[in-house]
Amino acid sequence: MKRAFRGRIMTASSGGEGLRYLDDGILVLGEDGRIEAVEPWTGPPNGVLVRDVRPWLLVPGFVDAHLHYPQTRVIGSATGPLLPWLERTVFPEEARFLDERHASAVAAELTQRLAAAGTTTAVLYSSSNPTATRVLFEALARSGHRAFAGLTLMDQHCPDPLRVDADHALAACAELVRAYHGHDRGRLSFVITPRFAPTCSRALLEGAGRLAQDHGLFVQTHVAENPDECRAALAVHPFAKDYLDIYDRTGLLGERTLLAHAIHLSPDEWDRIRDRGARIAHCADSNFFLGSGRMRLADARARAIPVALGTDVAAGRTFDVRRMMSSTYDNAMCLGDPITPEDLFRLGTLGGAEALGIARETGSLEAGKDADFCVIELAAYVQEPNDVLARIVFSSDTTPVRETYVRGKRVVGG
Ligand SMILES: [Zn+2]
Repeated sequence: MKRAFRGRIMTASSGGEGLRYLDDGILVLGEDGRIEAVEPWTGPPNGVLVRDVRPWLLVPGFVDAHLHYPQTRVIGSATGPLLPWLERTVFPEEARFLDERHASAVAAELTQRLAAAGTTTAVLYSSSNPTATRVLFEALARSGHRAFAGLTLMDQHCPDPLRVDADHALAACAELVRAYHGHDRGRLSFVITPRFAPTCSRALLEGAGRLAQDHGLFVQTHVAENPDECRAALAVHPFAKDYLDIYDRTGLLGERTLLAHAIHLSPDEWDRIRDRGARIAHCADSNFFLGSGRMRLADARARAIPVALGTDVAAGRTFDVRRMMSSTYDNAMCLGDPITPEDLFRLGTLGGAEALGIARETGSLEAGKDADFCVIELAAYVQEPNDVLARIVFSSDTTPVRETYVRGKRVVGG
């Protein structure tokens, strides 16, 4: 029997700037997992099993465009800034992912936390270990999340247990592409994932660029997060005229490239990001926690560069994309370029899907898209649409996620 949810509904929509809000609406799910209709409630439709969740709210599932699976257990480790934090906190933990049992246990925790936050789409860095990456994909295949995930590439300037030479790493990537890319009608994707320029040789970067090109894969990496990192990147790759040029000249910068942080960039680098059609994962909370700086969101928006939000766990302190909306607001306010709650909601849902090239499938509650959504607890006394939006964007702890669905199926962690 066909199913539907009755409740309050808030969503961005593909055609318009503003948000659509229904204070009593119905979300009808087709048997194929797609949304059949999103309409004002006018009475029970024939032959449909309706679940009434009022006064709670239905919203699109959130899109977390940047986080690190093997950092799930080291969240909140205040050993920054970036380079010392990697040495003290991240690399020792990532080395533990050589142990498959550890990898399995953490993958279960990760999927549980994503589901609890209402995240339906996640873009993940794995560790540099192929087996751990396979474990991650298997966990995602079970949990039901839509995800992009990739083996983190590092063949230099990192501890020995994490170093994988270029030939082995690229062969492992090709194997993972065969096993998981496009799994379940595109629910899982493999993404080429150089950690960042300092830990990758030029040969590895070029090989990764070719692999992405050959298979039409997304590329994700970090760029210009921290001034010391910027200096290290250029010291390691003196052929480049600036940080972005390292990725550009190794074939990694294009329309399927997702760049995280992008704080310390010149106007010329911003122009080249626009010209190549690349996208940005904005990680405001992480940027605060590691003292990395404040990304000028206005620089991206002025150039119409697609932007998604990333928690960047574990430099970010939460799996909650709504906390990123809130941090993005703070960041933009401090820079004197305020952003509206409507735009923040859009960035964390449909805007994220657009940046990942999957907006035809997900990111908003519209007929024909996959039924990727979550149910949020909302007090009946919060009634005005602007108040509802404010609670969702700025107060996620008073509006907790109760259920999360991908393609109409409840997403379960663990
Ligand atoms: Zn990161």
